Amino acid sequence: MRILGIEGTAWAASAALCDTEADRIFIESDPYEPESGGIHPREAAEHMADAIPAVIDTVLQHAIETAPSATTGPAIDAVAFSRGPGLGPCLRIVGTAARSASKSLNVPLVGVNHMVAHLEVGRHFAGFDSPVCLNASGANAHLLGYHNGRYRVLGETMDTGVGNAIDKFTRHVGWSHPGGPKVERAAANGSFIDLPYVVKGMDFSFSGIMSAAKQAADDGEAIEDICFSLQEHIFGMLTEVTERALSLTGTDELVLGGGVGQNARLREMLATMCEARGAQFYAPEPRFLQDNAGMIALLGAKMLAAGDTMAIEDSAIDPNFRPDQVPVTWRDSEES
Ligand code: ATP
Repeated sequence: MRILGIEGTAWAASAALCDTEADRIFIESDPYEPESGGIHPREAAEHMADAIPAVIDTVLQHAIETAPSATTGPAIDAVAFSRGPGLGPCLRIVGTAARSASKSLNVPLVGVNHMVAHLEVGRHFAGFDSPVCLNASGANAHLLGYHNGRYRVLGETMDTGVGNAIDKFTRHVGWSHPGGPKVERAAANGSFIDLPYVVKGMDFSFSGIMSAAKQAADDGEAIEDICFSLQEHIFGMLTEVTERALSLTGTDELVLGGGVGQNARLREMLATMCEARGAQFYAPEPRFLQDNAGMIALLGAKMLAAGDTMAIEDSAIDPNFRPDQVPVTWRDSEES
């Protein structure tokens, strides 16, 4: 099976070919890099409109070059695209590109939930059956666990996504986007200072810690100490709730998803926690953690195998598409 995946929920204009028989995923991405400030939805959409045709062309060219010898053209079986969650102006461009590719290639269309794709790419490469997933991305932060046909949200941020929270702090101190890698670098030389730590049951909040971190910077506290302490508090909160999710579900498999998952300190905390309780931990390689069309194509292949395709007239994008809205159709066909 060969699936063309298209991703464009925010900053990454990305296309991919997932070839299940060859067990290969080819990804072509073109990131939007704001000149100043954070991600501006209109500028991100302009970038998406410019970049999506080129990344799709590159992947189709690759598909033609790698097509089985008996076939002509790119030999694509379906087009999968991110329906949401994400920025509406970007999603609309991706939806239009996917519908037109599905029409012109005359193949089915598959609508993928971006956050479920973050989970499924980790589950696939880890070979796990039913893991808990911590999605730590720019615009989201939540724990997912499978129960009765859906990925349930076991706990989530009560305000901003984790990456967006970090990026708001780095904007305040004048650092360019994205802020996460810069905080990680500065934290290497920092020491601990007290910041708010807010976990309420299975949910958590980042707004208080961000205000306190900005205030500490305004008060002249060493930036390295603030960055170190931001990581210790935020990742400590995420690790605490993740451990509780493993305990509540009785699961001994954890996967990590999302761009913040590239952070070595977060991975270290999660790995230590899993080791202490005898659970297995898997974090995908960076190109599958940050936004990418490879995970969309991969989940698209699983959904196509389950017959989970959609008519063009039903393929409207959904900027607020929650993972627990998705009927998980593909797990039964994986098992059979
Ligand atoms: P979503 O998947 O919710 O749509 P997104 O589109 O914002 O998220 P991602 O690629 O998942 O994008 O994550 C981007 C975020 O990851 C940014 O906020 C960035 O600062 C953060 N990030 C990237 N590298 C690191 C790192 N090493 N440490 C911490 N954060 C990081």
